[in-house]
Amino acid sequence: MRAATGRRYMAPVVFLVAACLGLIAIRLSAPAGTSSVANSQDRLAGQESTTPAIRVLLGRPRETLDVQVDGPYWITPLDMPTRILAQGDRLAKTVVRSHRQGLQVGDTVLPVDQIQLVAHRDGTLWVSKRRYRGQLRVFTTADGLLRAINRVDLESYLASVVSCEMPPSFPDAARQAQLIAARSYAMFHMKTFGAENDWDVYDSSRSQNYRGAEEIDQQGRHLAVETPATQALVEQTRGIVLVYRDRLFCTYYSAVCGGHTATGASVFGQAAPPLSGVACQMCGEAPNYRWQRELSLAEVETGLKPYFQSRAIDLGRLTTVTVTDPGAGIVPTAKLVGSQQTHRMPTTTLREYALAGKVPSHLFTTQAAGDVLRFSGRGWGHGVGMCQWGSRAMAARGDSAIAILEHYYPQSRLIKVH
Ligand SMILES: [Zn+2]
Repeated sequence: MRAATGRRYMAPVVFLVAACLGLIAIRLSAPAGTSSVANSQDRLAGQESTTPAIRVLLGRPRETLDVQVDGPYWITPLDMPTRILAQGDRLAKTVVRSHRQGLQVGDTVLPVDQIQLVAHRDGTLWVSKRRYRGQLRVFTTADGLLRAINRVDLESYLASVVSCEMPPSFPDAARQAQLIAARSYAMFHMKTFGAENDWDVYDSSRSQNYRGAEEIDQQGRHLAVETPATQALVEQTRGIVLVYRDRLFCTYYSAVCGGHTATGASVFGQAAPPLSGVACQMCGEAPNYRWQRELSLAEVETGLKPYFQSRAIDLGRLTTVTVTDPGAGIVPTAKLVGSQQTHRMPTTTLREYALAGKVPSHLFTTQAAGDVLRFSGRGWGHGVGMCQWGSRAMAARGDSAIAILEHYYPQSRLIKVH
């Protein structure tokens, strides 16, 4: 991305970890090379790079973990990285499980409940069917399950994320914009959520999809996730993030906005001003730009049971659902009419409880036909921030990554942080 090397984007920066309105302050005054984007402990041992490390929670807590290292490795307690508990030239596929005296790795019981598995050569670590760069941290939870966390160089993480979030068939400018949005999202979470937790992000769409450097599919084929193309995209955008008034913000993005991006505050309760919502005439060819679905009233009623039970509301039998669509960017309100009473809720809540995985977005209206509800909707995902299919069309007509980001995150600007 040529402009990223221009003067405007070369400001040396120091981060001030000062959360304010959900944003993080960045002061643009430190001499070059002294960036404290992450403190030194956050960098990977033995690495020259000034790139910070990100901690990614892999999947859900589980009873056992399959690990393997295709080269020299060592294991230390998490809080004592110089105390070697085990080491070797290669770790064949080994099962890790919780043990009453600590953690059991293969046949060996280690007297600690948090370990770090260090692969001497980057990218030789396997967890189940995925190969990762960086190191693995294993924590025992209070109920005896294992939590696996991959601590990895941020830019290597992004070379996988861009592959998982946007297919290689999308134009380079769209993928560059995707990478910058993903980097900004990751760094925002490192400074906010990560400051109070053992990990910074999830490896799913709960944060951003991440499947390591390589994975083995169900047919046993080895598939590259990180590729030379995604590595090149990382180099073209290395260290560039979006800021609003010199602060990182949560750069949400979604697949298809349906014609207008959603107002961040209406979907998430709080969002930075660049997420106020913009018109998008570019995603008309996307899947789920417009969609129809049908569900039975009984299905919706069953999904909503936990919601009403936890609030001690007795709606009675659900007889119909009507939706008022307030128009561009605002979350519609659903009116649920029951045999006992009527209740209103945002369609985001209705989708969360009763429609998850059944309708592509919360932007819909409904029509009752007997016991069936017909949903007519637009968009795919929460609709906040960059529209991925819109960015694809913008790039295809020749727009740059900068133009794409300026369109979907107005009032923000790009800076280089490492
Ligand atoms: Zn769109």
